[in-house]
Amino acid sequence: MFRSIRWRIAVPFAVIIILAMLTLGGILSVQGRRFLIEKTQERLFAETQLLAGLLEDQPFTEENAPSLDALARSWSADLGVRVTLIDSQGRVLGESDEDRSLMDNHAGRPEVIGARTAGQGSSIRFSSTLGLDIIYVALPHSLSGGVIRLSIPLDRVDSDIAALNRVIYIATAIAAVLVLAVAVVVSGRTTRPLMELTAASRRISAGELGTRLAPTSRDEVGELAHALNRMSLRLRNQIDALDAEREKLAAILQQMSSGVVLVDEEGSIVLFNRAVEEIFGILESQAVDRSLVETFRHFRIVEAWQSARRDHEVQIINLELPHRSKSLQLIAAPLRGVLTGNTLLIFQDLTRLRQLETIRQDFISNISHELRTPLASLKALTETLLDSALDDPPAARHFLSRIEIEVDSLSLMVLELLELSRIESGRVPLEFKTVRPGDLVEMAVERLLLQAERGGIEVVVDVPSDLPSVRADPPRLQQVLMNLLHNAIKFTPSGGRIESGARQSGGDPSAAGIERIEFRVCDTGVGIPADDLPRIFERFYKADRARSGGGTGLGLAIARHLVEAHRGKIWAESRFGQGSQFFFSIPISRA
Ligand code: ADP
Repeated sequence: MFRSIRWRIAVPFAVIIILAMLTLGGILSVQGRRFLIEKTQERLFAETQLLAGLLEDQPFTEENAPSLDALARSWSADLGVRVTLIDSQGRVLGESDEDRSLMDNHAGRPEVIGARTAGQGSSIRFSSTLGLDIIYVALPHSLSGGVIRLSIPLDRVDSDIAALNRVIYIATAIAAVLVLAVAVVVSGRTTRPLMELTAASRRISAGELGTRLAPTSRDEVGELAHALNRMSLRLRNQIDALDAEREKLAAILQQMSSGVVLVDEEGSIVLFNRAVEEIFGILESQAVDRSLVETFRHFRIVEAWQSARRDHEVQIINLELPHRSKSLQLIAAPLRGVLTGNTLLIFQDLTRLRQLETIRQDFISNISHELRTPLASLKALTETLLDSALDDPPAARHFLSRIEIEVDSLSLMVLELLELSRIESGRVPLEFKTVRPGDLVEMAVERLLLQAERGGIEVVVDVPSDLPSVRADPPRLQQVLMNLLHNAIKFTPSGGRIESGARQSGGDPSAAGIERIEFRVCDTGVGIPADDLPRIFERFYKADRARSGGGTGLGLAIARHLVEAHRGKIWAESRFGQGSQFFFSIPISRA
């Protein structure tokens, strides 16, 4: 309690006032006693003077002693003092309080000597007769050289002084209580705003930055309140700005496609974004505050972090994660400034890039392979023609017609490649129209019917007449159907059967419940081996090179792209040796 400013102000004030009062009281009591003694002596001198006048004609002799003794007693009773009358030899002739005959000679008493020699004498002494301090006053008796002495006990003066002291003590106590009360109230008023400021500062330091102080005074405390308000406002603005900045950074970090991990000097993970979660399949909650070594369990990541930290240089390495089928590039960058000692690890997922690279390489090797065969036969045909066949016109015609076939096949491949690349790059704008599925199937079948008949293959069309129309680009969907029919004819031996049709499918949860029209082309041909089935929609993929003959391996790739451009999907089922079924479905648009 006495630690508070209020008491630290009040208590010293009270102590000072009490000390001052006590000092004053002490001085007053000493001076008052002296003053009272002087006043008593003056009064006694005046009364002695009076008695001296009354005794002027009374001789101080042994014969007159009884009458002097009687006078002493009577005056003592009137004045309330002790009266002693002494002759020139010091014998006591009259005494108010004692038996004079028992009293010794008083010639040597200091006041008696003083009266004789100096005309008046006084003394304060302890009286062994009374056991008290006594004030003595003496004056000479002019007639007989005797001395008149009056005396009074000092305890009367002392009791007056004690009464005075009591008053002083009581006054001191009252003053002390009053001073303490006033000091407590005044210091309380002075310190209350300070206490409010203290409470407000505590709230501010606890994070309540909106705390505003109402300055109650214009003094230093008021100034302090203003300063605190300004500080709290600036702090809040700065913290708001920092929060906004942090949120921005967090949003950027979370949206980044690269994985970002911040590691502190001890190797603990401080920050971990969503991309790393996806790349490594580790949750942020399982990584933050844990060690890098424990979390990733990959020595090359740890090595890159250690090198970056030790050499203060950016480390770039490539990583393979075989269990997650991923190829990564890791950049480990040591940080500077306030983050010195920390290292930023950035993981870039190169898997897709690598896949594209593989596709590109496959494409180049496929296309060179596809070109090599017709070019080699062209070369052989022209060489034979130049060597000998020119002189043999029928043979020359034969070679030339074979050259024409090879050139046609090359032109077809170039055309299909161009077509595929145009569709893939979105340069073939689709013209959507409302069209009946039956019309699409019938027109495609009609165009290839002759070819089928020539191959001895029966073709059947099965489309319900009440099928809803679809929104599609008719020539493009016909192209898909014709590619499928063309393959069916090509891979079905004579005597076989092809069935083409369409039906409504929908409410299928895998198709998100959207109603669709499903087209199909089914044959009783050679079928596709199960291993090849998943790959037949890839460019240049041929399951059966011998039968494919002049085929480019591009037809199904083109069909897949066209169907996907219609927001549809294409798939195949087959049993090797028994036939194949190709399906594609596109959404019914009721708009
Ligand atoms: P291609 O020009 O070789 O026909 P496609 O892309 O149209 O190229 O077909 C790719 C491969 O898929 C063919 O080479 C063939 O092996 C297989 N294939 C396609 N349709 C059928 C089918 N109806 N029956 C059996 N195999 C088929």
